[in-house]
Amino acid sequence: MVKNIKIGLETHVQLNTNTKLFCSCSMKNISEAPENTRCCPICLGMPGSKPSLNKAVLDLAIKIGLALDCKISPETFFSRKTYLYPDMSKNFQITQYEIPIAKKGKLEITDRNGKRKEINIERINIEEDPAKLHHVDGDISSAKYTLINYNRSGIPLCEIVTSPDLSTPKEARIFLKKLSSILEYLKVFIPGELSMKSDVNVSIEGGERIEVKNVTGIIEVEKVIDCEIFRQGCLLDDKKKIERETRAWLPESKTIVLLRKKESEEDYGYIFEPDLTKIEVSKEWIQKIQKTLPELAHQKIERYQKQYGISQELAFSMASDLDIAIFYEKCIIKQDPKFAATWIDLLKKTLYYNDLSIKETKLTTEIFLKLLDLVKSEKVTKSGAEMILRDIIHSPEKFEDIIKNYSIIDNAEQIVSDVISEESKAVSEYISGNQKALQFLMGQVIKKSNRRIDAITAKSMLEKKLK
Ligand SMILES: [Zn+2]
Repeated sequence: MVKNIKIGLETHVQLNTNTKLFCSCSMKNISEAPENTRCCPICLGMPGSKPSLNKAVLDLAIKIGLALDCKISPETFFSRKTYLYPDMSKNFQITQYEIPIAKKGKLEITDRNGKRKEINIERINIEEDPAKLHHVDGDISSAKYTLINYNRSGIPLCEIVTSPDLSTPKEARIFLKKLSSILEYLKVFIPGELSMKSDVNVSIEGGERIEVKNVTGIIEVEKVIDCEIFRQGCLLDDKKKIERETRAWLPESKTIVLLRKKESEEDYGYIFEPDLTKIEVSKEWIQKIQKTLPELAHQKIERYQKQYGISQELAFSMASDLDIAIFYEKCIIKQDPKFAATWIDLLKKTLYYNDLSIKETKLTTEIFLKLLDLVKSEKVTKSGAEMILRDIIHSPEKFEDIIKNYSIIDNAEQIVSDVISEESKAVSEYISGNQKALQFLMGQVIKKSNRRIDAITAKSMLEKKLK
């Protein structure tokens, strides 16, 4: 019997600010900084130190809230979430509980077959990151000892909490992909540190909710949900009871281990953070941020289809990566949008194959447009252009040399005419209806051009001439 599965995600996003959430410690290249060199009495949680709020964090959180169709709270505040754990030296985390910065939003996801589903965003909280634990010679349960790096302590996080509206691991993947694309468009991430950590909640009809903490990346989330559905399904099949638990994913061993049982929000003893004042978010403040919202990927996808008449698949390909979207929009100032999209899609696949991003290459739209002009004016074959693409992503500055090496076919007409006059027997066979003769003639054209004329071009040129 297929059971009802409910999946909810609490995704933590590291925000792109100059300084930490409650102190002036620099966030610049913080992941590369030597251990415990980016901390001060505030982010170390020393007694008597007082936090002061970084307003830039609120701006970014409001931006995320607006992009996810949330209501921004006119008044909000911070609370202390009390727990004892080595990654939080002051024994409480400053977070939001009673009134989050934003709530009641939504994000629509679409699967491959075009089926749409609305996922509710329950709330968006701002909170500080704890320190990073480094388990030496093992994982959380087997390490010899554990080191603590406080550089991460106090990094501003935005927690995006969904309702348990997701039903499959695949839906969770589609949701996170869309969310990460939105966050990338909003430029709220630390550049180069596209890190999203999710707490994954899974419950199967007949059992309690299980939470798996700190799962990094989209693929891992999908794996964890898969594992949990299987594990809980087996327990239920064996008529065993599933009680509320918090578990941890160990990526090295690909296992999920028990952390604690029967924990509820009340156990954290939330209290109002007395060292910070309440925050009033005015309508003017929200409007000001609303004006800075860029056109998002899903809006671009719709516009590209309507305005340029390209397929949904191509529109998705152009918009799902912001740098590619910028590249595409630059190209279509001078080139046909459908034609450009087809070739940029091919460029994307070539980049993917070479494990490169468009930013990592020095390929400019000027050079790419030159290539498209050559394809369009039939001075280069489609397969020739594909070969050129493979080379210019590595050394675009050598474009002129590369095209010489490949498939310029300025004497194609001559080659086709020569083959027609040299192979008169095959020509007359073709005219009397033998299609095989055309194949032979095509082969001759390709051979004579040293493969600079491809099969499709050879066929169409021959057919045109022998009409
Ligand atoms: Zn600090």
